[in-house]
Amino acid sequence: MPPAALTTDTPCIRCGYSLRGLAPAMLCPECGLEVSRSLRGDLLRFSAPEYIRGLYNGALLILFTVGAMIAGFVGMIVLVFTISPGNTANTLFWRGIDTLVPAAAAACLIAYSAGWWWLTQPDMGQLGTDRGERFRRWTRLTLGAVVVAALATAILRALGRYFLFDSTLLFAVRTLTWTLVGASQAIGMSYLTWLFGRVPSTELRIRATSLRRWIIFLTAVSAVGACVDHFVGKTAIAPLTSRSLLHVVFNIIRGLANLAGIAAVLSACDLFLKLRRELRRIVDDQSDELLTAP
Ligand SMILES: [Zn+2]
Repeated sequence: MPPAALTTDTPCIRCGYSLRGLAPAMLCPECGLEVSRSLRGDLLRFSAPEYIRGLYNGALLILFTVGAMIAGFVGMIVLVFTISPGNTANTLFWRGIDTLVPAAAAACLIAYSAGWWWLTQPDMGQLGTDRGERFRRWTRLTLGAVVVAALATAILRALGRYFLFDSTLLFAVRTLTWTLVGASQAIGMSYLTWLFGRVPSTELRIRATSLRRWIIFLTAVSAVGACVDHFVGKTAIAPLTSRSLLHVVFNIIRGLANLAGIAAVLSACDLFLKLRRELRRIVDDQSDELLTAP
């Protein structure tokens, strides 16, 4: 007796078409994938190869972009210590750098967002039924907001040559941008927690969850720090001498927050390297499976 036809609305993992009424040995009428392939559960290795490859490319693009940003950051530090702005040639050089840095930063932000966009593409077989879908959408939404806020900052900066803006407006836009960056990364970690569950990897799930807590904490600290600096700093901290205890404590906290931020970025890089490796393994497993399939 051939296996019975499906009696529930099971989506095709490749195209999302409802396979109700079809037998496991049949092919999806929309995309031609074997129906049995869609019945094997939630793990990524049973998802459509195109989907896995998209995730892989997204993770790779994110890694490349973060690598480029770190290299640029280190390069700038080296330049600051080696090339003095003293003579004319160097002044011209620094003026060139001043134009180059915002453009490079914008390119990195766009490439980084594109990587996340790729990594958060919908899995047609998973639509609407899983909590991961919510984080997926919110990651995209908040990253889109980051791009808009960064654009607003760039426009305000460009206009700043002609108009004098209230410093509170500039402060608000800048702080909002950074808070949005933090929020998008925290939500992105919730999405990755869901994705790691499909790898499946408990270790990476735990890593993503603790990184999310870390990001939320750092974002809150940096937002509060920026507010204290902006609203209180001018009246309370600035008039105090640099030897005052409050001043020293404030700068120590700020330094520690920066170090913690760098540690969080490196930890995220490591997480993405591991994600890339897991996805690579799944891609290889899938192509082995296709080769050995009858
Ligand atoms: Zn299909």
